[in-house]
This record gives sequence, C-alpha cells and structure tokens, in this order.
Amino acid sequence: MDVTLRQWVDQAERVVVFTGAGMSTESGIPDFRSPGGVWTRMQPIMFQDFIASEEMRIEAWRRKIAVDSEIGGAQPNKGHKALAQLVAQGKITHVITQNIDNLHQQSGVDAAKIIELHGNGTYATCLDCGLRHELEQVKQAFIAAGEKTAPGCQDCGGWVKSATISFGQAMPESEMRRAESATLGCDLFIAIGSSLQVMPAAGFPVLARHNGARLVIINREPTDLDEAADLVLNAEIGEVLSNLVGLNS
Ligand code: NAD
Ligand code: ZN
Repeated sequence: MDVTLRQWVDQAERVVVFTGAGMSTESGIPDFRSPGGVWTRMQPIMFQDFIASEEMRIEAWRRKIAVDSEIGGAQPNKGHKALAQLVAQGKITHVITQNIDNLHQQSGVDAAKIIELHGNGTYATCLDCGLRHELEQVKQAFIAAGEKTAPGCQDCGGWVKSATISFGQAMPESEMRRAESATLGCDLFIAIGSSLQVMPAAGFPVLARHNGARLVIINREPTDLDEAADLVLNAEIGEVLSNLVGLNS
C-alpha cells in the first residue's frame, strides 16, 4: 500500500478523481493503446460524417452493435468499487470521467457526482430534440429493417446517435463547467488510468495543481503530466485503490 497516498487521502477534505480508459481495462474493456483493441481496429467516424451521410450513420450503428456484443456485459472492477466506497464516505466529491462505459454508475456512485466528459454509450439520444432512446429498442428496429436505414427519432425525425461525444463533436458545455468547478473545489486531485493527452480534459489536473490542490497520478506507464504531479504511482489501478480502502476482493 502506498503510505503517502493513504495519508493524503486521509488529510484531504474534498477529493476529485479523474478517470480514463485504464480504469476499466480490469473490467475487460480495452484502452486506446492495447493492440487489437476494439477502438483501434477502425478509423473513428467523425461527427460531421455521421451528420452528412446515411451510409456513415448505418456504419456507426453496425459498429455499435459489434462493440457492445464484445464489451457490453462489462462489470465494475475492484478499482471502481473502491472509488464508490470513498464517494459514499463523502471523501470523493466528484468523479470526472472520460469513460463512456457507465461502470462508475454501476459500481454504486451517485449519478449526480459523476461528470461524463465524453458522454455515455449505454443509451442513445436524438441529436435534434435530445430525447433519450433505449439501445435495445433502437438496435432491434435497425436490425429488423435490414440495417438499411439509420435510426431516427419517432418524436421529431432527428438522427438518433449513441449518447457519446464523437471526434469532431463539441465537448458538452455544462459537463465542462461542472468539471471545472469540481476541480477548483478540491484539495486533492487523483488522475487514474489516463495517458492525459486528450485535451481539453487533460487540463483539469493542471488546473487543480495551479489552484493549490495536491496532484496524484496513478497509471501503469508514464503520462504527459508526471512532472507536474506531487506523486506518481506506476502501478495497477485495481490493486492501488483496493489497498487504499482495504477492500479484499
Ligand atoms: P488512454 O488509452 O489514452 O490511456 C489509458 C492509460 O491507462 C494508458 O496510459 C495505460 O497504460 C493505462 N492503464 C491501462 N490499464 C491500466 C491498469 N489496469 N492499471 C494502470 N494503468 C492502466 O485512455 P484515455 O486517456 O482515457 O483516452 C482514451 C479515450 O478513449 C477517452 O477519451 C475515452 O473517452 C475513450 N475510451 C473510453 C473507454 C471506456 O469507456 N472504458 C475505453 C477506451 C477508450
Ligand atoms: Zn427527436
């Protein structure tokens, strides 16, 4: 167990954690860097192309079905559970995440304390009216129609898209604002399982540090912000976090 991390968590009044794809690899969801990972096999579909092309919308939904069949059943791992425990104790005020896998929610963290910078891949929304659409229904209708027509909204006719932020799509404004104010409110910021390369999200650890909070980075390999951190733990996330809270599973 890392004694410094334990002490700093004990001393802190408001901890914010920031999680990336590395948080969920122990749940069986590959991160960007793993060779052969589902995300690396194909060029991402840009938001503009989704809007502009029926062919691209159909392709996006085909891929969504394929990806979900590989990783859709993922469950929270011991790292997620450890964080949920610290949220329940009131130690962690917010979980800012780049992940879209809903595993923080599934581990029991109050949804109001989770800030999803890249959206959520476990449901879909209408791009025009914002209506939530359940994935199973959307997929079934898409398949029943021979995968020849992209799903549309029954209310307004807009395009229905997985509720994630695509490349080329604007970052969600209210989530960015909430993440900024959570970051400015913390006295300990822990970045977990992110290469900290993706901007603007990678700016939050730096903002926390400049605002006087301690910055801890937990990641198996070096990140771009290691030099700015007060403590860097190059270790496995599940092990570090479960040891931190004394979880034994
Ligand atoms: P990244 O792939 O760039 O970095 C992940 C980091 O985690 C790597 O540096 C890796 O060494 C480390 N890591 C992986 N497993 C680890 C473990 N068990 N213990 C310690 N370290 C571990 O991820 P990113 O910075 O989050 O950026 C990827 C982008 O892709 C994000 O924006 C995200 O939206 C998206 N994405 C999401 C998911 C998901 O929802 N689970 C998965 C893949 C990608
Ligand atoms: Zn609509």
